[in-house]
Amino acid sequence: MTDTLTVLEPATEAVLAQIARADAADVDRAVARAKAAFPAWRAVTPADRAALLRRLSDTVLAHREELARLEARNAGKPIGDARGEMGMVAQTIGYYAGAPERLLGVTIPVAGGQAWTVREPLGVVGLIVPWNFPLTIAAWKLGPALAAGNTVVLKPAELTPLTAVRFAELCLEAGLPEGVVNVVVGPGATCGQRLVEHPDVAKIAFTGSTEVGRSIAAGAAQTIKRVTLELGGKSPNIVFADADLAAAAAAAPSAVFGNAGQDCCARSRILVQASAIDAFMAELEPAVTAIRVGDPLDEATEMGPLISAGHRKTVASFLEDGAPVALRGDAPDGPGYWFAPTVLCPVDPGARAAREEIFGPIATVIPFADEAEAVALANDTIYGLSGSIWSGDGGRALRVARALDAGVLSINSNTSVRVSTPFGGFKQSGYGRELGPHATDAYTEVKSIFYATQT
Ligand code: NAD
Repeated sequence: MTDTLTVLEPATEAVLAQIARADAADVDRAVARAKAAFPAWRAVTPADRAALLRRLSDTVLAHREELARLEARNAGKPIGDARGEMGMVAQTIGYYAGAPERLLGVTIPVAGGQAWTVREPLGVVGLIVPWNFPLTIAAWKLGPALAAGNTVVLKPAELTPLTAVRFAELCLEAGLPEGVVNVVVGPGATCGQRLVEHPDVAKIAFTGSTEVGRSIAAGAAQTIKRVTLELGGKSPNIVFADADLAAAAAAAPSAVFGNAGQDCCARSRILVQASAIDAFMAELEPAVTAIRVGDPLDEATEMGPLISAGHRKTVASFLEDGAPVALRGDAPDGPGYWFAPTVLCPVDPGARAAREEIFGPIATVIPFADEAEAVALANDTIYGLSGSIWSGDGGRALRVARALDAGVLSINSNTSVRVSTPFGGFKQSGYGRELGPHATDAYTEVKSIFYATQT
């Protein structure tokens, strides 16, 4: 270890913890531990591996409140949200406890013998995660990786490492062998990069920005590493004039201001049919101004601060140059990286706020004329992660859902994430899918075996 990492609380700017900051040599040691633990972990019988994962899920649930408070303080998210996220961590591990006994192969008819497939674990897997949903996103990777028999090195974001560090302790408490789950807290440019380059790491599962995702894909190519990438988004929330406008407007704020807008699925482009835009904005106003922004540990809080001073500066830059601010909520004064929920309307589809991922509580409202224009505008982005369609016409909603280039869509709803359904992006939102029944595919290799029956 070379030096100390100071972890701040975004709601107060106070020091929350000081922990050792790892370097590339620490990554090498963690990979060596994971490599040493791999043969025994892959040899654990499927039923025993399932039982250990169930116990880990129960252990997380037993520590849910402790983990939720840590996450709420470190990431600045409302305590109610943090409790929900820690519930999802336990649910995700529990869901993949069902996987070790369901890693099925197929038999294939061939001449001269018998052929079949098996799924083998990859070995040591590097998990690199962002700061917006620190332990939740780690769990989406940990569950299927461990279930398939891999050992892991998890690198949390430097801003939010505390729940990952605690989770590693809980893994041991639950009975997972030493070396199966390793956590390294350090910068992306050194520790993340070393994981990507390390010859003993078989795969990188990455969630983060599209920019870093590009460098990870390029770096991983040197060792032909497997890579899955969950990257940025600029998701559309399409509201047709025939929709239940009150319902669409009531749901729109949490879909873009949830987690203070620091959500890869944020519906930050609200596309509204021009004939309904006045009615929609009238419904939207009370929903935006009512959002309670404040102390993450206050049970009534709906939105916390942004993650850092630097990030707030970036978000604020989207309000420069005469941005058309139509609605603005409240935010506390004083210490903390606060930013009031803001709606821009009408926004030109070519404007920077309509094209770049803001990753903060700024929504853009963009009018459209008809279905064809709605689809064209929604798809006019490098991203393709998620989106919503609000319409009273079921046929139209299904047509638009099929026409959108995005991985996760909802109709008359803004939900994106369920443990049991696949999650991931089209285009520059990444490749590969997490969650759902097929996630273990991305943590295994298919092996084909032939047994000669003729001499
Ligand atoms: P980031 O890309 O800056 O960092 C993500 C992780 O990568 C961190 O752990 C960081 O330390 C590490 N990293 C940085 N440089 C690296 C390098 N050169 N080599 C290896 N690792 C490196 O992202 P962020 O700012 O932490 O998170 C915000 C971004 O994450 C947004 O773009 C958001 O859309 C995206 N995100 C995507 C999803 C999804 O599932 N698609 C979910 C959450 C967040």
